[in-house]
Amino acid sequence: MACSACKAANNGRPMLKQRPFLIETLTAIGLIVAPFVLPYLGFAPNTVNRILVWGLFGIGFDILFGFTGLLSFGQSAFYGTGGFVAAYLLTIAGFPHVVTALFIGMIAAAVVGYLVGLIALRRTGIYFAMITVAIAEVFFFVEFNPLSDWTGGENGLPGVPTPSFHFGSFHLSFETGWSLYQFLALCYFVGIVIALRIIRSPMGAIFSAIRDNPLRASAVGHNIHSYKLAAFVIAAAYAGFAGGLLGVLQAFMPPDAFMFDTSGQLVMQTAIGGTGTLFGPLLGAAVWLFLQDFLQAALGLGAAWKLVLGVVFVLLVCFLRRGLIGGIVDLYNLFFGTRKKEEPVEEAPQPGVTALEQQAAAEAEVEREPVAAPMPSHHRAPSGFTGPILQAKGLSKHYGGLAANSDIDFTVQHGELRGIIGPNGAGKSTFFKMLTCEVHPTSGTIMFEGRDITGMNVTDVCQLGLTKSYQVNQLFTHLTVRENITVAVLAELRGKFKLDLFRNSDKILGLNEQVSHTLAMVNLTDRADTPVSALAYGEKRRLEIGLALANSPSLLLLDEPLAGMSPRERVETVKLLKSISEGRTMIIIDHDMDSLFELVERVTVLQEGRVLVEGTPDEIKGNAKVQEAYLGGVHGVFE
Ligand code: ADP
Repeated sequence: MACSACKAANNGRPMLKQRPFLIETLTAIGLIVAPFVLPYLGFAPNTVNRILVWGLFGIGFDILFGFTGLLSFGQSAFYGTGGFVAAYLLTIAGFPHVVTALFIGMIAAAVVGYLVGLIALRRTGIYFAMITVAIAEVFFFVEFNPLSDWTGGENGLPGVPTPSFHFGSFHLSFETGWSLYQFLALCYFVGIVIALRIIRSPMGAIFSAIRDNPLRASAVGHNIHSYKLAAFVIAAAYAGFAGGLLGVLQAFMPPDAFMFDTSGQLVMQTAIGGTGTLFGPLLGAAVWLFLQDFLQAALGLGAAWKLVLGVVFVLLVCFLRRGLIGGIVDLYNLFFGTRKKEEPVEEAPQPGVTALEQQAAAEAEVEREPVAAPMPSHHRAPSGFTGPILQAKGLSKHYGGLAANSDIDFTVQHGELRGIIGPNGAGKSTFFKMLTCEVHPTSGTIMFEGRDITGMNVTDVCQLGLTKSYQVNQLFTHLTVRENITVAVLAELRGKFKLDLFRNSDKILGLNEQVSHTLAMVNLTDRADTPVSALAYGEKRRLEIGLALANSPSLLLLDEPLAGMSPRERVETVKLLKSISEGRTMIIIDHDMDSLFELVERVTVLQEGRVLVEGTPDEIKGNAKVQEAYLGGVHGVFE
């Protein structure tokens, strides 16, 4: 189990992918061996069964929290819904099939999860968490009062049967203890296999991208609201099924399934075991329930056991921030890790060499491989359209009394390379944000390939083929370079939302080719499997450009691509921009005039939110108004 946990604990799709059936096999072995080993460690069969139910409940929660980054305190609402629907069917309604009742309970919880998700996911962060708390409380109240005729109110529903199967004369029943364990272990195994499949699917990759950087996930073309809703429904379905199993396990559906305590315990168990691991909730439940039994019964602490547990929890969270599984993985890497730790590749400082000399040396040294032509794009301009690729008319953006942009007319033709310059505060970034629909203009219109995109959102505009690289890197920081690019390419190949939960990403036609091609374009092939955190700054900037390039945009906007780079990195990046500009339309903002004028064919100068002048680099260099704007009349700024 430890090793399987290692694989998943890395939040690590590469490891999950490399040996696809290893985790499943180890899990099966662990579940088969457990009844022979755990009694010697002091675990009673009923405790092990409860651990499995909590573990299954937690798989869905971990997909929601550990993988998608949505902390919900409302899982008890779905646990109770699934549990009471199944228990009602099996007791009051006299429904004879336990497994079918469990599935009906699961579906009911998923439907409720969908409706609750529609409301709760309208907010993010702490507000989302608070809404889920409120929803859990509402469900608890409803179960106790208006619905008490169906749920038994504070008495719960007694008499929930255990599963039994009849195959002709062959009769199989799972009643209590290790006999029921077999049924619960099978349910857990199926649950984990499905969860692994989800995490390895394109949706799993997008869930992790949303956790890391929701803004960028939507900017590369994913409808993050729909994906979050999908994760919420998946978590509710797992909770509903586990709730049904709780009734089966206890032969009684307890009303406290709906209590806020249940949600809180799930969060704590997952944190103890390790989030983003799938197995964390199982391990956390094992620690929790073992300590509960041990401290209460063996040490006779009574209700004070929670005090000890609280201290244990604080210590674990402080010293093992990735939970027990994270700690096990760190130990494993320490003693058996064969992988060399990835380090950022920084330039060695060269004493006594000026920046200009370094730049000249780098120019002489940098010989890049010729980069292949752009991949055929899936974005299509409306048929028969021959006008400018981008046309903005009368574009203004006001923040209160401040006019960041005023009445801008701006046209870019197909295949053009346009530069935008202007002093700080001139409104360049705001202008880009309006073009990519991150912010909406106060007035004016934006036409992209003949379509009016004013008022659209950044995801839809990306899907049409207009993307931007950001001034401040917006990367998926816990993923590798390849995974970052994959997330962006998936948006082009699958559209903004697709419910392909069980699809193998490797089977998506053209995905690997397009990812490799993009990596080659931004010269990151050698660093493909490096985590973003181990990249040097210049590499991160190239990845930032790669994310915007990955879904073959027809129009690429680059907001200060050279910002913060060393002379050598600038030379490399200018060469890279030159090579990717072939066959593309690009608009670039940058303060590095020399590099920009070398790259672009025309330049637009903004000042105080307005277009000051437009022309070729030579015209702009000699323009007195531009000199005035930059240096207040001191000429020679571009010489
Ligand atoms: P540049 O990119 O040319 O440096 P910006 O577009 O970032 O300029 O900013 C133009 C002006 O708009 C600045 O005065 C800035 O303070 C203001 N501004 C930009 N974004 C906001 C915002 N979200 N709220 C208020 N003012 C803003």
